[in-house]
Amino acid sequence: MAEPIAFTNAQLFDGEAARGAGYTILIADGRIAGVGRDPAPSHARAVDLGGATLMPGMTVGHWHGEFLDIGPPRFGAGRGGIFLGTEEPPALLALAAATSLQIALRSGITRIVSGSCSNDLDWQMKVAIERGMFDGPMLVPCSRHVVTTGDYEDRGHWWANDVQMMGGVRRIGGNVFADGPEQIAKAVRQEILRGAEVIKILPTGGHGFDLLPTYRGLSHAELEVVVRTAHERGARVRAHTNSSASIRECIAVGVDIIDHADEIDEDCIAAMVQAGTTWIPSLLFTKLASYGGAGEARAGHQMDAAWDNARIMLHKADAAGVNIVPGDDFGAQGMGHAPGVYARELLVYIEDMGISAERVLRWATRNGARLTRTAATEGLILEGMEANLIVVDGDPIATPGILTEPDRHLRVVMLGGRIVSGGLSERPTPQFAPNISQAAE
Ligand SMILES: [Zn+2]
Repeated sequence: MAEPIAFTNAQLFDGEAARGAGYTILIADGRIAGVGRDPAPSHARAVDLGGATLMPGMTVGHWHGEFLDIGPPRFGAGRGGIFLGTEEPPALLALAAATSLQIALRSGITRIVSGSCSNDLDWQMKVAIERGMFDGPMLVPCSRHVVTTGDYEDRGHWWANDVQMMGGVRRIGGNVFADGPEQIAKAVRQEILRGAEVIKILPTGGHGFDLLPTYRGLSHAELEVVVRTAHERGARVRAHTNSSASIRECIAVGVDIIDHADEIDEDCIAAMVQAGTTWIPSLLFTKLASYGGAGEARAGHQMDAAWDNARIMLHKADAAGVNIVPGDDFGAQGMGHAPGVYARELLVYIEDMGISAERVLRWATRNGARLTRTAATEGLILEGMEANLIVVDGDPIATPGILTEPDRHLRVVMLGGRIVSGGLSERPTPQFAPNISQAAE
């Protein structure tokens, strides 16, 4: 094993709270072997952090690694009808996904729970990382969107020329189309067979798609069968859902993760607390797609209403004890995969929503580890935990904006006790293709 490392003179945020300065954190055999104020033991390589902040690596709880600048010009007729871009050639998408994962790691993200992918890319990326092809965060693979014929994800597909049929179930890019409980169960089982640990469904529109009160992506029977089938095989279910009625229905049938939830209300929050449901508010997208707190909300504008609703409900959900985890549709226009973009979402919660930085960092670390089901082994700076941590020059609680500039402020990204990125990295920081990275504003 590598020699033990003792980070000395650290400011500590341990995933629960800011603990102050003067800490020594000992790393040995891939784990945190000591947290305290003792000097570095003589058998360890001492690294004086000079007051920099040591904290757990962060989680992105909603992810699409292969999204490349998706947005309105690609919808429907744009670019020959490409809808979300996930119908592009799989090798191209795989390279995009691998690049995004490395950008995330370099940004201090050590855990990702994906929010859907095409071509079983998440599972393949997880295997590639495990085989050491590249360093990347721990990744919980998601399925394609499990959707029904004619759903809004189907609208751009009339031209599609790359359709795979399996057992009567149609696959295109990031979607699998199935109808009725039998086909839906088959589609869910196929996705799990192909590596998905989370099944993604789209029970309503909203959050970038029209939210029509009468629209259902899945019937109640189909919704129930998705959850039952996934849970029978040890997978979880996450739902892009936005009407308050649908959020309550999803929680009632056992959906594990609610994404977006534009119309979340107090009843939804109470149901989430009761059921232990995780909420991924994903408000960077909401900010970019709405008036974002500047000027006046437009009457009848769905994303403006979502933004205003979030400003009330985020505090209520947090106070009620909902497991809130950051994560967003990174790769969408204006929030493309680029170093530090993931922390721009954290700034929305801190600066626009008025949640304290300490709480938001807890969502990104402790809550994120709960979501990846690794809370017992990581997510906190605590003796015995796996050493997945970052060192930030400065104090991200006082100045959270520094997290959006990892190339300037991130000194260490450590995975399993190995320094994999940052200024103290033991291997050179990879260079990324400029057309994939999009500079954060
Ligand atoms: Zn998404």
